[in-house]
Amino acid sequence: MARVISDECISCGACADTCPVGAIAEGDGKFVVDPDQCIDCGACEDGCPVSAISEA
Ligand code: SF4
Ligand code: SF4
Repeated sequence: MARVISDECISCGACADTCPVGAIAEGDGKFVVDPDQCIDCGACEDGCPVSAISEA
């Protein structure tokens, strides 16, 4: 399993800076989680200002 980022994302980049394994990158209009890299630690979810990150 991996965290997923919804369309609520405002591309602030906070989650990408927080992720310990570098699984988050800027995508087309929002940031995206690479499910193959995500270890589901949840660190990114706590820092998102618009609560756009959730469990898949
Ligand atoms: Fe990175 Fe953890 Fe968020 Fe997965 S849950 S994207 S490993 S910070
Ligand atoms: Fe988007 Fe939230 Fe990540 Fe900011 S912290 S880039 S709003 S998912």
